[in-house]
Amino acid sequence: MKQLLLATRNQHKKRELQELLSGMPVDILTLEDIGPMAEVEEDGSTFEANAVKKACAIAKSSGILSLADDSGLEVDALQGEPGVLSARFAGEEASDEANNRKLLRLLESIPDNKRTARFVCVIAICNPPSEVTTVRGECAGKITRSPAGSGGFGYDPLFIPCGYNLTFAQLSAAEKNKISHRSVALKKALPVLTKYLTDEI
Ligand code: IMP
Repeated sequence: MKQLLLATRNQHKKRELQELLSGMPVDILTLEDIGPMAEVEEDGSTFEANAVKKACAIAKSSGILSLADDSGLEVDALQGEPGVLSARFAGEEASDEANNRKLLRLLESIPDNKRTARFVCVIAICNPPSEVTTVRGECAGKITRSPAGSGGFGYDPLFIPCGYNLTFAQLSAAEKNKISHRSVALKKALPVLTKYLTDEI
């Protein structure tokens, strides 16, 4: 059976992909399943650069077809910030609450019609040693004036997707997964993965 290595230790991301690829003969591994591997610094200025760097680093050292993702929030009134710095917007090791507080503070004077934003997820798939494909998923919406809801993580309590009047943190996980940037990117990644996992390479 072919193997696919995910550049994550997050078992939730593994389950998500297992569901998407159910029926396909693939053994999905995470960094937990293989020996120690050097940490890859996410120092790119785009989601693409970070995802490619992570996927290619683990593909090269493991020799296994590898997938990495990089995601974050782009706010129009902040010229795309926090972007690739989403996890550490309020500083290294910042909590979700601290990042959310900083975002709300920076948007204090921004009127409702200018609070547009989007979540972005880029997935890179690297066939070792260095053949790489990227796909991008986006989910557009707007930023609230205060947090609402307790589900999800990160900026979910501040983000209302287009066509809804609830934040991601107020939607069920299943509802969020139907429209999220990650699910859009995963759906686009499916034909690429199918090609590699079913081809006799
Ligand atoms: P990662 O690349 O998936 O680790 O995401 C980087 C950061 O982007 C996270 O730490 C969150 O701050 C933010 N982010 C990414 N996806 C989501 C999401 O679905 N909801 C809320 N925040 C997210």
